[in-house]
Amino acid sequence: MPDNHSTSRRTFLRRASAAVAAIPVVSLVGTQSLYAADEKAEDGHAHDYVDDAADAADHPQYQEGARCDNCAFWDDTADAPEGYGGCHHQAFQNVLVADGGWCDAHVRT
Ligand code: SF4
Repeated sequence: MPDNHSTSRRTFLRRASAAVAAIPVVSLVGTQSLYAADEKAEDGHAHDYVDDAADAADHPQYQEGARCDNCAFWDDTADAPEGYGGCHHQAFQNVLVADGGWCDAHVRT
């Protein structure tokens, strides 16, 4: 008959294995919306992204004056239509963000 220590160790290992196995599934689900075929990030809404920073004014992490074009992740060398640019943050690869946009990953330059 197993003692309590062996039983809880076995239970812990079983749960840890299940948790590790679930990680790639969660990652894929999260990635799918971030790498949408749509050109602009507003379609994905990663990190509470908004095209107009004014729409984030009541967001708890928003700081006055913060917008994409004064963010450390902003990429103004991207091939983008007027008013849009690239973003080096991994959540916004392959999509464009508005120069006046904002997300909760903003880092002021
Ligand atoms: S990380 Fe910066 S540039 Fe990228 S979407 Fe967020 S605020 Fe805009």
